[in-house]
Amino acid sequence: MQLEETCRGRDLPDDVPESPQLDEKRRVLEARVKRFMEQARRIIGDRKFSMWKGSVVTSVVGTFLTQNVTDQLSSNAFMNLAAEFPLSKNGSNVKQSANVPLIKDACDLGESERADAGSTDEGGNCCDKGIEELIAALRTGELANWGKDRIREVLYDSFEKPTAAKIFSDIASMGDTSHWNSLLREAYDNGYRKGNTDDTVDWEALLNSPFAKIAKCIQDRGSQFQMAFRILSFLIRIKRDHGSIDLEWLRYVPRAKAKRYLRSINGLGAKSVDCIRLLSLRHRAFPVDTNVARIVTRLGWVELEPLPDSQEFHLVSAYPVMADIQKYLEPLLCKVPANEVYELHCQQITFGKSICTERRPNCGACPLTAECKYYQSLANRLASLYIPSIYYITSKHARALLRTQYKLLLQPDICFCRPADSILTISRIDLK
Ligand code: SF4
Repeated sequence: MQLEETCRGRDLPDDVPESPQLDEKRRVLEARVKRFMEQARRIIGDRKFSMWKGSVVTSVVGTFLTQNVTDQLSSNAFMNLAAEFPLSKNGSNVKQSANVPLIKDACDLGESERADAGSTDEGGNCCDKGIEELIAALRTGELANWGKDRIREVLYDSFEKPTAAKIFSDIASMGDTSHWNSLLREAYDNGYRKGNTDDTVDWEALLNSPFAKIAKCIQDRGSQFQMAFRILSFLIRIKRDHGSIDLEWLRYVPRAKAKRYLRSINGLGAKSVDCIRLLSLRHRAFPVDTNVARIVTRLGWVELEPLPDSQEFHLVSAYPVMADIQKYLEPLLCKVPANEVYELHCQQITFGKSICTERRPNCGACPLTAECKYYQSLANRLASLYIPSIYYITSKHARALLRTQYKLLLQPDICFCRPADSILTISRIDLK
């Protein structure tokens, strides 16, 4: 099946901004992307697009679970949910519950405030009656009648302060989202028909299970109470707004609208939304995490303010924030086919974790030195010190000396070389 055939969301005109300047920037960046991908394929192998099998709902919950924790912890948390709430071949193990009303009672308690989950362990005891009553009230829509003080009291009795504050903030940001159901109607007009999805988790069973049980499944990843609340409130919202736990119809609406819908979900920031769009909806989105931000900054894919004269690029410790980089690159990469953006994204994550690491990048193994600002800066520094262009430093003492006296960032047994030099000129130096 061709990738583009599965993308039914049309582009709106403002999805792809046009101007001669943008076209020129796109041309330059696309050439750089192509070079990066060719080199990355050589050193880290094939990262080609593979079809995401799960549903959009699974993708959203999976994205919640990956926030601020390692891949292993988030995968384990998801597998625990799948083991605890398996989907039978005949669909959900529970009858369609009637306890989530289709007409949404707004639970608007204050200013909206969304943030990705924190990664700290949470203390507290969630097994009390109060929190289960609060969740039951959330399911039925009764929570809107509780009032802030009662909600606060239950949360602060059940959890430690930081967790209670985060969950309260999530509740406070729940507005009336029922208007989004018009998007589902638009999807039907565009040909969407409800069918089976490849889910592994029985979301209906999870929605109706005790809060404590869900939190226990995911406790090893940390932030389990906040995350359990976030998953439950997400499932409750879509069931209440659209009548079932299904978001496959997002594939049938214009991409810009699907993006706005995902941004309206509590706990999904710009990066999380773009991950879901790229991996699940197969939109042309470019999520920027710390690895991607570091690589594109070092390779000069984003324009930076000039550094002060005394500041060397390889010693810069703080790069532009991820959201700004994402905003800058999105209109420039929006014409690159989604499967190529997917491959680029996967390559950069692997490249950033294994070669272009935050500290001590392995420039000696990198084929992109000629276009890397970090490397150029380091090479210029070495040249100014009359140090041979390529050399190995084998002694700890020598490395310490260079680090303290010349403020060079060194890596164990690594060679530095100026781009024009040939690797054949390597000489071994030991500065004991
Ligand atoms: S040369 Fe070094 S800093 Fe530059 S991209 Fe390669 S590994 Fe990263």
